[in-house]
Amino acid sequence: MQYKKIKDILNGQLTGNIITCAGWVRTRRDSKAGFSFIELNDGSCLKNLQIITDSQTEYNKNSIKDITTGSAVWVTGMCEKSPGQGQACEIKAQKIFLLGSAGSDYPLQKKNHTLEFLREITHLRTRTNTFSSIARIRNLLAFEIHQYFQNKGFLYLQTPIITASDCEGAGAMFRVSSLPFGSDYSVQNDFFGQEAFLTVSGQLEAETWACALGQVYTFGPAFRAENSNTPRHLAEFWMLEPEMAFYELEDNMNLAEDLVKTLCRAVLAGAPDEIAFFTERYDKTLFESLNKISMPFCRISYTEAINILEKADENFEFKPGWGTELHTEHEKYLTAHTAGPVIVFDFPASVKPFYMRCSEDGKTVRAMDVLLPRIGEIIGGSQREERLEILLARMQECGINTEHYRWYTDLRRYGTVPHSGFGLGFERLVQFITGMQNIRDVIPFPRHPGRAGF
Ligand code: ATP
Ligand code: MN
Repeated sequence: MQYKKIKDILNGQLTGNIITCAGWVRTRRDSKAGFSFIELNDGSCLKNLQIITDSQTEYNKNSIKDITTGSAVWVTGMCEKSPGQGQACEIKAQKIFLLGSAGSDYPLQKKNHTLEFLREITHLRTRTNTFSSIARIRNLLAFEIHQYFQNKGFLYLQTPIITASDCEGAGAMFRVSSLPFGSDYSVQNDFFGQEAFLTVSGQLEAETWACALGQVYTFGPAFRAENSNTPRHLAEFWMLEPEMAFYELEDNMNLAEDLVKTLCRAVLAGAPDEIAFFTERYDKTLFESLNKISMPFCRISYTEAINILEKADENFEFKPGWGTELHTEHEKYLTAHTAGPVIVFDFPASVKPFYMRCSEDGKTVRAMDVLLPRIGEIIGGSQREERLEILLARMQECGINTEHYRWYTDLRRYGTVPHSGFGLGFERLVQFITGMQNIRDVIPFPRHPGRAGF
């Protein structure tokens, strides 16, 4: 069936034509004079299209009384310039075809349900302004990410979701097995004949491609069984991981900064109505903070960051000191202190994984974290250790079986090159761009401790 998207109707170019549109009814209001006004939404944009009926309007076997909130209709009628405020045009309905009715038990009858309630109806919440806006922004960002890297000549790589490397201590892992629960379980009899897990990161595999193809990126799901019920962690989330041969830490930071800026700019340009909506509804500072992203990111070493935190007149839950990890409260303090995004670099080796490049000082590694206001860490990355002997020593120090990672160390045995990369949490980016407080509201079907529904 041919029909027009509401987005294209509302931009006014179809005015004067008889058109067909389709969507879900948000509200219906009947006037005493025998007209009805239907607010129709099809998910193509934030705005609703107004449909006006009169005594001439034909229905399939139904009547206007059956066109209730939540029902699905297609409508044919004349697209006319609207006399009303706030809309370019409206449809004078000639025919309304009720595709699917919705009874009075439709859960989205009234406006402004709480986000907590909407999480219980994840399958229907996408019909609200908030969640359809998030859907469009996720889509736009995913498209822009591919465009950004494709324009730079990066190759898109799909890394495995099932992996045998227990990786880097990035977080607890989910085990993959095809055997039933029971005491007679043995790894030898299991599907892969060895322990297998859901991946926490595609980085190590991406390095193999970078060390053959130059610059690559992965963009896919990652899984972490960390039992953290926080508004910034999911058990299943999407991660963007570029990996670049011939890039040193400085190049890595430049790329990360330019990427975040480009993506924010793209959303401001491509989804202005949505950003205005989120600013009005969820975070009054949103528009301003997205605009401010064009300023240079402040870059400070970990040592400088700790100095700032130690001097801070603040009651931190975790006392900052050289050699400790940066917690969310510290990250938020640093971005507030510098009034914008911050890149922290050169972390102590003791708080970072084995593959990061050791510095001359013997204490720090060439790591970098990008911190954003309101969110904290959005990107973690590093220059990788490309020197075989130093890498092997670090692996031993971290208690990693070097035989297990022969394939990874081979990259240093044969034609090693300096290289770098980072991981960007896609949902954290969507949180920053929408101002949504809880990460469970920016992914279509959230998975977190105690929950894997839908
Ligand atoms: P955090 O300290 O915030 O738990 P991390 O340092 O463990 O994160 P990395 O291993 O550096 O995370 O992963 C790269 C990026 O992936 C992070 O900067 C973050 O944006 C995102 N990320 C990590 N863990 C999660 C998670 N559980 N849910 C959503 N995003 C995550
Ligand atoms: Mn990190």
